[in-house]
Amino acid sequence: MNNEQILSIFTQTGALLNGHFQLTSGLHSNQYFQCAKVLQYPQHTERLCSQIVSHFRETKVDVVIAPAMGGIVVGQEVGRQLGVRTMFTERKDGTMQLRRGFEIREGESVLVCEDVVTTGGSVFEVMKIVDERGGNVVGVGYIVDRSGGRVRFGDNIAQVATLHMDVVTYKPEACPLCEQKMPIDKPGSRPNKQ
Ligand code: ZN
Repeated sequence: MNNEQILSIFTQTGALLNGHFQLTSGLHSNQYFQCAKVLQYPQHTERLCSQIVSHFRETKVDVVIAPAMGGIVVGQEVGRQLGVRTMFTERKDGTMQLRRGFEIREGESVLVCEDVVTTGGSVFEVMKIVDERGGNVVGVGYIVDRSGGRVRFGDNIAQVATLHMDVVTYKPEACPLCEQKMPIDKPGSRPNKQ
């Protein structure tokens, strides 16, 4: 799949909307993105995740791990395609934790998965958990890089994104769409927000 085909899957499924939006950060943008909308279709999830899997076919991976909630679907599909154990971390009392009896054994090779990376915060927290348990993070795979390629997870860590998106944002007072009096949508404030 090339970038154009991937983007068309996102627009067809309503995961990527074009217009005038107020993001949860308060900034305005001409695009709004909700990865879960594309991942509700297993056949799309399979294809998007296969782009990640193809990069790690030759890498020894014992475990796939992903942060809840967004990463779980991606981790599960990548783990299925690689045929390895798959687990997730979750936030409790504000701290990322490995619960539910999941275990990473000393020396295991671990692939971290996520749906969307903007600052990489959750991925870094998962990497710390892996490290504390003696596992080795061999790679990070995610569907969308929204950082413009700025987030780096480490010199020896292969990182792969299915799609790179550079998100254009505007301060409300300097927004050209506001200037054009285009009505604004606040999708992040809907009750069904994630
Ligand atoms: Zn605006």
